[in-house]
Amino acid sequence: MKVLVVGANGQVGQHVVDQLHAAPNVTVRAMVRKEDQQKALLQRGIDAVCIDLEDDIANIKRAYQDIDAVIFTAGSGPNTGADKTVTIDLDGAVKTIEAARQAGVKRYVMVSSFDTTRKAIQAAPEGFKPYVIAKHFADDWLRRSGLDYTIVHPGRLTNDEGTNQVQIEETVDAGDISRGDVATVLVETVQNDHLIGREFQVIGGKTAIKDAVKTFKYSV
Ligand code: NAP
Repeated sequence: MKVLVVGANGQVGQHVVDQLHAAPNVTVRAMVRKEDQQKALLQRGIDAVCIDLEDDIANIKRAYQDIDAVIFTAGSGPNTGADKTVTIDLDGAVKTIEAARQAGVKRYVMVSSFDTTRKAIQAAPEGFKPYVIAKHFADDWLRRSGLDYTIVHPGRLTNDEGTNQVQIEETVDAGDISRGDVATVLVETVQNDHLIGREFQVIGGKTAIKDAVKTFKYSV
């Protein structure tokens, strides 16, 4: 299986790339937006493409050749305005979903926000609202895409050392999770077809990630 990581230079993305690179039976292609990022990956023997999420779908699709699955972990981050929230977190995500459809890449794992329900939009503080709206509609686009999707809703991300232990449920109480552990959840999720068409919240917990992903049961 070859996995395209969108947002591969991000804090979660770098963990995902490293873990996929080290994993047996899986290969990785990193999608980054700067040539020096691409060069550094290529020097480490990691397949990498340089494509900006503000490019059109035809250009984004160039990253999808020989790809079996996509992990989307890009984001505009906290230091840009609502304009980039729309162009990256919403439209960037939608373009990668459409590129997957056009390229015939069925499996797609989305890093969403913890709670992207309409209720969460209404409850969000003013400055955070555009981000929750963007993630709400990106998630919804993916659900309706016909792709073999899984949507992962992590709690507040930390840079703590990963514990390799999490709690995965349809809904959990808000909590923290390390970026390394989120990456491990993504790497396991993309290889577990029973999670196709499913979504879950995840925070740090007491169950080994491999087991938590394998045994997660959806109520409906
Ligand atoms: P991050 O470090 O900010 O990484 C985001 C990545 O997206 C960066 O590598 C960035 O590229 C890339 N990106 C931004 N604009 C782009 C563009 N135009 N074209 C291509 N790539 C672009 O974020 P993170 O900490 O890894 O988190 C991953 C995602 O988790 C977040 O984006 C967020 O949606 C989600 N999340 C966050 C939290 C939280 O508590 N913070 C909680 C739940 C979910 P550069 O490296 O070049 O800047």
